[in-house]
Formats: sequence, structure tokens, C-alpha cells
Amino acid sequence: MSSVNLFDSLEHQQDVGSRRYRVLQKLALNRIIDAVFFFPRSYEDHSEIKPIAELRDRDEASVVGEICDYELLERGYRKSAFYLHIKQENHVLRGIWFNQPYRAAKVAIGKRVMLSGTVKMSTARPEMMHPKLTFVESDEPPLSGSILPVYRLTEGIKQPEMRRLIRRMVQDHVVQVEEIFTESYRSEKELMGIKEALLQIHLPENRDSIEPARKRFVYQELLTLQLAINLRRLQVAAEEKAPRLSTDSKIDSHIKSYFPFRLTEAQNRVMGEVAKDMNLAVPMNRMLHGDVGCGKTCVAVYALMLAVANGHQGVLMAPTETLARQHFRNLQALLAGTQVKVGILTGTLSSRDKREILGAMKSGDVGIVVGTQALVQNGLEFAKLGLVIVDEQHRFGVRQRAQLRQKEMTPHYLVMTATPIPRTVGMTLFGDLNVSVLDELPPQRQAVNTYLCDSHQKEKWWEFMRKKLQEGRQAYVIAPLVDGDRLVDDDSTTGGNHPCDNVEETFENLVNGEFAEFQCDLVHGRQTSEEKESAMIRFSEGKTQVLVATTVVEVGVDVPNATLMTILSANRFGLAQLHQLRGRVGRGAHAGFVGLFADEDSEDGNRRLEHVVETQDGFELAELDFQLRGPGDLFGTKQHGMPPLFVADLQRDFELLVSARQDAQKILEADPQLNSSDFAILKKRVMNRYGAALDISDVG
Ligand code: ADP
Ligand code: MG
Repeated sequence: MSSVNLFDSLEHQQDVGSRRYRVLQKLALNRIIDAVFFFPRSYEDHSEIKPIAELRDRDEASVVGEICDYELLERGYRKSAFYLHIKQENHVLRGIWFNQPYRAAKVAIGKRVMLSGTVKMSTARPEMMHPKLTFVESDEPPLSGSILPVYRLTEGIKQPEMRRLIRRMVQDHVVQVEEIFTESYRSEKELMGIKEALLQIHLPENRDSIEPARKRFVYQELLTLQLAINLRRLQVAAEEKAPRLSTDSKIDSHIKSYFPFRLTEAQNRVMGEVAKDMNLAVPMNRMLHGDVGCGKTCVAVYALMLAVANGHQGVLMAPTETLARQHFRNLQALLAGTQVKVGILTGTLSSRDKREILGAMKSGDVGIVVGTQALVQNGLEFAKLGLVIVDEQHRFGVRQRAQLRQKEMTPHYLVMTATPIPRTVGMTLFGDLNVSVLDELPPQRQAVNTYLCDSHQKEKWWEFMRKKLQEGRQAYVIAPLVDGDRLVDDDSTTGGNHPCDNVEETFENLVNGEFAEFQCDLVHGRQTSEEKESAMIRFSEGKTQVLVATTVVEVGVDVPNATLMTILSANRFGLAQLHQLRGRVGRGAHAGFVGLFADEDSEDGNRRLEHVVETQDGFELAELDFQLRGPGDLFGTKQHGMPPLFVADLQRDFELLVSARQDAQKILEADPQLNSSDFAILKKRVMNRYGAALDISDVG
């Protein structure tokens, strides 16, 4: 038996000194077990490696050789061809890439690379169009017939070293890894054993042995998640009681009479769904989904009024102070002729005002309270809280939800979001919510005209904006906030070495140039919330004409006079996100205009952006995003307080997601607390991973 334990630090393992250990820690590799479960990002397939001399037309092949020549031909604006020659003795293969000029900066004569792709025999020599290019470490001979794992790296460690380290950790310690599923469960579900799967993931025998190994971990990960979600759902149903808030046709039409316009079909339908849930003694747990401008606020108002009509109180939470104020103003205007009292509670209230509203909540004097996150901090007391609504959901997690639970009664709960969610993401992140969809825009909404502009049209665009500003309109200018190679407000990278616009620089340039004659302000995530708030308020009151901002303005802001938007480095953003941004303009009597500018050399980005010009459908754009960039860009799981998925790929693994979901439900039907010894280790995983995030308590 080895005396080394899986949970021992990597620090004193062979070849790992304290310097190397610090590098590994940057990748969250602290203990041996972390290395064993550090899965490859991809694989280098050396099993199809062929000598150039043996290539034939239409072969799928990989070729390793030394770069002997390269050339970049630029053919006018944004058009280029890059040629790369690699050689083996006197045979040459040519790789060709169109419109990827940046490749030229990354190669050098004499470097060893592997080109993988489809062979085309031209008269002079074999060629590959847009092959995959991999740099091959020179101390590593191409191992014909083998598949090498490719790991995520960080500065201070190279691929061959990482491979050696992980290989040794896996080979020496995999025997100690505990199986999670019973023998019979594994054979029923055709799951590879955990030790075998770890070996095949890191040291695959051949191309076909990777997928079953990966599948095992994907299933495990998704089952764990689905168990967690369903455990929570069962717990809520068993333990939490909500007040029945009933309705009838009289109450219904009375509430609806407050709206100064005809409700859309979709609004009526969703109001019905909400009313049905609120009429039950179990807490409603519903998500309302609808594109920007489809009128979600009306549904919120309807539900709040329903609570009030039943002698209960309702709360509407917004992600920012600006939005809270906006809702407060709207509600006050709408309910001006009624007895219903509306209050506001935000972080910036004076302590006297705060005391007053807190008192009114406790005594029941106030029926509807609008607020920000300040609402959920430290023990709030309500006389009779019946409903909690969260607008633009992504900043509130399950934890905050739990904090508003009252002693005996759990309020009904509704979250509203304009961020469209593909089905798979919804099933994972929001598996415990029912979903309503508002799929209809109110009539006579102003169209937003979207233009994809070339950088040489920028002068003209600024001129157009100046003209509209002089007519009295207001404008947003959106750009990323850059820090090194990260976008600060977006959680994504700037995407390598392309130049990228920066919001602070943009502001300086505009104030001292194009927009010198106008009042301009700057908003980004590095400012204090007071700075952000006051800039937003000045803008919404019309004191500033131009707001230069990052995507912090994305959520819900409604300034009808703002009809212009310029988005710089637009290729850096997700399509759904651009659509959300665009939803900020065209909200009033005047049509909206959006100009998208991509980074200079972003050919791919441009093609993506055309979708935003072509369609006004946020759901379609979200699906496209999901196909093009994966779910990460739609939803930072971090914002939900949910741990990220490590192995599962929600697009690729949809079928496994569905079966994991069914299996989780079946398992819990038979064993609602997961107390059987068969599931002991699995339960431990579920609790460790999701117990805190989902507020699941362990009764067992
Ligand atoms: P969102 O779903 O983006 O939160 P809002 O609730 O802010 O949308 O509504 C957008 C605008 O449309 C508001 O100015 C609102 O008053 C208006 N609106 C909502 N429903 C209707 C309707 N049925 N008919 C006309 N205008 C409506
Ligand atoms: Mg809204």
C-alpha cells in the first residue's frame, strides 16, 4: 500500500517543488485528487499522422513538419490569404487560411507544427484549407498511433510537463479513487467504472475509448445536479406553506382596469398562470420570461395587486437603485387613484426614511414595497408578506430567496428576466422553477434600426448622432472596460491580441472631440454604486445627453428619450446581450438607432453581428449564441451562486441531461431523502456541491 493519500498536497510529489506548486495552484491544482480529476481540454490525435509523401486527395490526415516558408497576402480591406509551408525532407505541404491575418504573427521558420484537415492534391503539392494548426513541442517526438491529452495551462508550465505530471498522478493513485455508483446501477446505466474512466480520459487507448469515459463523468455530474434540484423541490413542497391568494373575475377585471392600454393575449395568459399558482397553499416558484419591452412589469403589478386584494403585502426587487426608482415611479402613477400604499426601500435612503418604511412594512401600512438588494439584508419584518417578485433575475440567487422566507408562511415567488434561456440551460440552472413565457410585444412598439458599420463610417455615424442629439434625443455609447486581457464587466476575455475599444478611453476621446458640445457621463463596474447611480439618474432626468458605459446599463433601464446607441467592439459581446442592449432604445415616441462597430480585424465577429441586424427576436439570437459560443456567455453560473459544470456540455450532452433528470426523479421517488446506503457517496457529493447553493438541508 502506498502511504500517499489522494488528499495529500501536490507540493512534495516527485518533480513538484514549491515554485512549480505555486504555478499549479493557479489552476486550482492543490492536491493529488485535483490532478487526477483535471480533465483534458481536448486531445491531439497523433493516430492519423501521415508522411507528406503518402497523402492522397481527400484524406483526413495530420501531418507534423517544420515550417519552411510562410506568406501573408493582403487583398484590400479585410481580405487576406495566409500561406504556410511545412516540409519533410523534400516534400512540402501547404496550409491556407483566408482572412486570418493574425496567424502570421504567431509562426516562425523552423518551428514544428501539426496540420490536421482534409487533403487536396493540387498540381504543385498537397494542400489543406483552414487546417487545425497545433504547435508541437520539439522535445516530443510525434507518437504515431497515440492520442495525447491537452490540458489547460498557465504561465510557468508547458504541455509536456503537465502531461507527465498528470499521467504519473493518475497511474500511481487512481486505485484509491472511490466508486460512486453500485455495480448494478452501473451495469443498468452502462456506465464505465470510475477508475477505468479516469485512465481512459487521461491516457486513452484510442479515439473511441474517450467518449464512454467522458460520458460517465458527464452523467455523474448531471445526475448530481438533478438530484440537488429535485431534493430542493421536494423539501419546499413538504415543508413550506404559502398563503392562498385567490382571485375571481371581479378582482381580475378590476385590477386590469388600472392599465391604460389593452393587455396583450400573452399578458392575459401569463397573468392567469400566475393567479392559478398563487391560489395554492404551496409557494409559487415561477420564472417569467419575455423579451425586452414585452411588458413584464404589468404582470408584476397584476400579481402585486392580487396579493394586496387578499390582504397581503408584496415586494418587488430590482437589481439596481435606478430600476427600483423607475418601478416605484410607475407604480405610484398607476395606483394614484387607489388606496394602495407603495413604498421604496433602497440602500441610499436616509435613516429616518428607512425607519419609517421599515415600520410601515411591519405594521402593514404599506401594501407594496419596491426595493433593491438592501431589502434582503438583515431581518426584515412584514405584517403579512404574500409575494416576492424579482425583476431581471440574474443577480439574485436561491440564498437571497430563502432570506425572505417568513416564520410560518413562505411568500409566493416570481422572477422575471429578459435573458432568453435555451431549454437545456433552463433545465439545469432553473430546474426548480416553472416557466411562463411572454412571447408577444405590445402593438405599436417602435422598431429599432440596427446598422453594422465599418470603421471608416465612424465619422459619419458620429455626425448622425450629433444631429439627433441636437434635436433633443439622448444617446448611449457602449464599450468594454478592459483590464489586461479581461473585460471587467463581462467576465469574458478580450479574445487575444486584437485591439479592443476601452470605455474609459472612449469617454476621454468623445468628451474632447466628437461630443465636446454635449454633457457626457461615464458608467462602469469599477465605480462605486453611488457614482454609477448618480450618473444613471442624471441621464434619466435628461441632465446628460450622452452616457458612455459598459454593459452595466443592460438591465431594464427605461429612458424613453434615449433613442441612440453606439456599440463599440461589438464582436466581444454575445448576440443576446447585444439584443438586450438594443432594447434600451426605441422605447418612446421616437424610433431607435443602433450602430454596431466591430474590432478592426474581426472577420468572424462581423458575420455573427449580421444576425443582430437581421432579426429582432431575442430567443432566436440566444439560441444562436448558444450554438456559436456555448452557454457560458448567456449565463454566468457564478451570478446564480450555482457551482459551474465541469465536464458536461449542455449542447452536446442534451440526451444525457434528459436521462439524468428522469433518473434523479426515479431515485427520489423510491428514496426521497437519499438515505439508502447505495447512494451514500452520491449523496455526499450532492450536499458538498449544492447543499449551500440550493439551501438544501440534510435530513437523514
Ligand atoms: P419589460 O418586459 O422589458 O420589463 P416593460 O414592462 O418595461 O417591459 O414594458 C415596456 C413598455 O411597454 C412600457 O412602457 C409599458 O408601459 C408598455 N406596455 C406594456 N404592456 C403594454 C400593452 N399591452 N400595450 C401597450 N403598451 C404596453
Ligand atoms: Mg423590465
